[in-house]
Amino acid sequence: MIAGFVDNLASKYGRAYIRDLVASGATFPTDMWKEVADAGYLGMAIPEEFGGTAMSYDDVRVFFTEMGRKGLITLHFVSYFMDCLLVAAGSEEIRQKYLPGMAAGEYWSFAITEPGAGTNSFKIKTSAVREGDNYRINGQKVYITGFAESEHLVLVTKTDVNGAGPRKDAFSLFIIDRNAPGVTCTPMNVGTHSPEAQYIVFFEDVIVPAANRIGAEGAGLGILFDALNLERIIIAASALGLGEHVFEKGVAYAKERTVFNGPIGGHQAVQHLLARAFVKLNLANLANREAAVAFDRGDDARTVGMYANMAKLACTEAAFEAGDAAFQVHGGAGITDEYDVAAILPMIRTLRVAPINNEMTLNYIGEKCLGLPKSY
Ligand SMILES: Cc1cc2nc3c(=O)[nH]c(=O)nc-3n(C[C@H](O)[C@H](O)[C@H](O)COP(=O)(O)OP(=O)(O)OC[C@H]3O[C@@H](n4cnc5c(N)ncnc54)[C@H](O)[C@@H]3O)c2cc1C
Repeated sequence: MIAGFVDNLASKYGRAYIRDLVASGATFPTDMWKEVADAGYLGMAIPEEFGGTAMSYDDVRVFFTEMGRKGLITLHFVSYFMDCLLVAAGSEEIRQKYLPGMAAGEYWSFAITEPGAGTNSFKIKTSAVREGDNYRINGQKVYITGFAESEHLVLVTKTDVNGAGPRKDAFSLFIIDRNAPGVTCTPMNVGTHSPEAQYIVFFEDVIVPAANRIGAEGAGLGILFDALNLERIIIAASALGLGEHVFEKGVAYAKERTVFNGPIGGHQAVQHLLARAFVKLNLANLANREAAVAFDRGDDARTVGMYANMAKLACTEAAFEAGDAAFQVHGGAGITDEYDVAAILPMIRTLRVAPINNEMTLNYIGEKCLGLPKSY
């Protein structure tokens, strides 16, 4: 059913739609997004009582994989994991107020990364200081996908600004209105070849009601780390789908392109390149399915984390290898607009470093799954 929906979507909003948006400088796939929302696919992780369609997380994984297979993924879709965050940790008031809008297609952005912190989230400086029923927020975030296009932002802040308690309890999450006084942004020059933009976002004495805090004060990182496992699964699915999208072009080209005797796919060097990439894509997809199923089964966070980190690593690496193979097989044609191979590769490559780099997935597996000493 999901594949059928995405198939129909792709016949209307195919790669030509995405490429036209990129060429025109558009920063949001507005029409396609609306169609996805209207069909209920932006509310898959939201319970029906809040307007969602309450499907399994494995269904979410399938949706992302299929969107990737058609070359339709933009990083805006990663906002999905914020639905899960609000469902899991939002107060009843927050859930009632915001989840129906999200299910109906309201786009939210997410901000944790700071110039001076990067991968090391514990070093973030954006502060939220309690003042009566409100918090006063000051700081700066970078690489925030779609901030200017979003209605709301989930912001990661430091509430224990003096470091009085344990550092794991120093951070809190807030919902920020895109147009709140004191919030400004400037676009970055990021070339993902996708109709999206990343922004530097500034917070200057932004006043936020305490009711906008997600979870208890100081509980932010714990809430986030569980939700980030779900983000890893959709990133893995997106990368895998995009890898399959270009890979299929490589196989088709290898069957038709003849320069010596017979099609180039008849030469072992080309055939083995593709066969190996095919095996890795399929193994990675199985790993990601296991991660989503582990979450649906209610496995503990440690088990879901193990599978989600393995899947993120496996899918992004398999997609990169498959994309590189497809480019190789195309020869010079790989870089032409006509074959639309090269334009997919920057996104696949980016997904190895963002939203979490693969080295951190290895650090997680080394430490949490193998019991080795923390290495960073
Ligand atoms: C297109 C795009 C969209 C993004 N969207 C968002 C967004 O919407 N919201 C948001 O908050 N952030 C976003 N980001 C930021 C992204 O999450 C960060 O780029 C990422 O977390 C890495 O941080 P960094 O770039 O500062 O790299 P750094 O932390 O400087 O790391 C650089 C490299 O060093 C290596 N490295 C670092 N630490 C370790 C370690 N402990 N062990 C081994 N190797 C290590 C890794 O190879 C890593 O790639 C986006 C980034 C991009 C490129």
